[in-house]
Amino acid sequence: MAFDEVTDALVLVPPPSPSETNPPLGPMILARAAARHGLNIEVRDLNIEYIRQFTGIARAPAGGVPGGVLGDHGKNRALLATAAGRFFASTGLCPGEAVHLPDTADARAGMHFDFETLRRATARAAAPGAFWGKWLEERVFGTLPEPPPVVGISIMGPSQVFLALVIARLVRRYWPESVTVLGGSHVTLLAAEMAAEPRYLEFVDHVMPGHAEEGFAELVGRARAGHPSVPRIAAAPPAGERFDYHPLAAPRQLALYEPSTLTLPLQFTRGCSYGRCTYCTYPVVEPVATRLDAARAAAAMGALSREHGATRFSVKDSLLTVPMMLDLAAALEAAGVRARWSATTKVTRSLAVHARTLADAGLATLEFGVETIHRRGQRLFDKVTDPEIVEEVIAACTDSGIAVVLNLIFGLPGETPDDAERQLEWFAARRDRAPGMVDGSLNLLEIVRGSPLALRPPPEVELRGIAPWAYCYDWNAPAWRPEFARRVRDEELRTSALTGPAAVS
Ligand code: SF4
Repeated sequence: MAFDEVTDALVLVPPPSPSETNPPLGPMILARAAARHGLNIEVRDLNIEYIRQFTGIARAPAGGVPGGVLGDHGKNRALLATAAGRFFASTGLCPGEAVHLPDTADARAGMHFDFETLRRATARAAAPGAFWGKWLEERVFGTLPEPPPVVGISIMGPSQVFLALVIARLVRRYWPESVTVLGGSHVTLLAAEMAAEPRYLEFVDHVMPGHAEEGFAELVGRARAGHPSVPRIAAAPPAGERFDYHPLAAPRQLALYEPSTLTLPLQFTRGCSYGRCTYCTYPVVEPVATRLDAARAAAAMGALSREHGATRFSVKDSLLTVPMMLDLAAALEAAGVRARWSATTKVTRSLAVHARTLADAGLATLEFGVETIHRRGQRLFDKVTDPEIVEEVIAACTDSGIAVVLNLIFGLPGETPDDAERQLEWFAARRDRAPGMVDGSLNLLEIVRGSPLALRPPPEVELRGIAPWAYCYDWNAPAWRPEFARRVRDEELRTSALTGPAAVS
């Protein structure tokens, strides 16, 4: 595919990232900010280009229950698992070479390797004639009439690190004058380590942590004028500032997505007004909670509907509270915008009261951080809610037509196999009460870089180390977890093996 317009910056999204329905939001926000400065950013979503190769190959396992979930979890898990599996096999990284590997982690998905192992593997992948070298030449390096002044690489999670490093190597070879910039939430989490260790930046010119759309536009403007002098590791921009709600999506970027499941991502607030969960990285990644401007949010949704015919939206805010959702519902009504949308929230009894109103305003899916039904674990996480209230809220939502996604964490310090079984049974009972309306994101506890649990581990937790690009630590987790993790994966795939497109009313 060749592109003829003048490109001031190319922003690349490496695979694998776990969605074939939601285009990545960050690069579209960068494009919007750059456009305000008169600059043209071309976003290449290599993740969806990679995933599309497997459409038609992946099949749902027998017994999967089709559902109507919208948003991050409205995805084809069988397809994504197939694509990710093929990707990891193609890296040439050997799981046996992993370092600080947590008990239930995939070494290649979590990037649990040291610098030297990664250096060798990315050199092999970027070698002339190698699979990834050819794949990237076809989709990136052979498609522009001249090198872009800036190449941005977005890394939202460790699984994308491998190809990000291969791309950075190839930029040096194909476009040696281009400035290479890393950004994204995973880079934000690693910014302090990157400042202290030069091996992170071997093939990279700059790192931009935080929500860096303004800084990135400034850097691109300087690079276009031939003066890209900015710090190697930029300071994270001040948190809590007003930001754009309206991502700039190129039609050819959206055309890569299946129209019946395409869901446009949006973010209206940054940070989290709760901000206490001890396993969470939000205090590091988005440290200040901003306020919702509901009228501006409804206007952004209306604009995207007019521009792209979009009727499905996924609100990415870490915690959209009930008052915020009610404000958004009222603003959508006032602006005459009809759409289906999803959001993430924390369980509160008032949801049971307002579920019908929110459903009528287009709320189609709510993701809840339940985390654990056991009081001991709830105290460890500093997130205590009576399971009976959770059940009442789930029932009110599903009875009103709102599908729910329950985030549950298993294998906490001191948790027994019986505790884990009881929680899995509790989830299955919720799912079976409302078939197709209850999905689960079922995970074994990870102790994550920068989280309060990692910074101040409880006495019974021993952190054993973390690989340089990894997200989570090796720790003395309960010994029964690996066997249980397989059951959890099967259960998760069974629950929503193929999520069919929900009709837009
Ligand atoms: S887990 Fe959710 S509610 Fe808890 S601090 Fe993180 S973003 Fe906020």
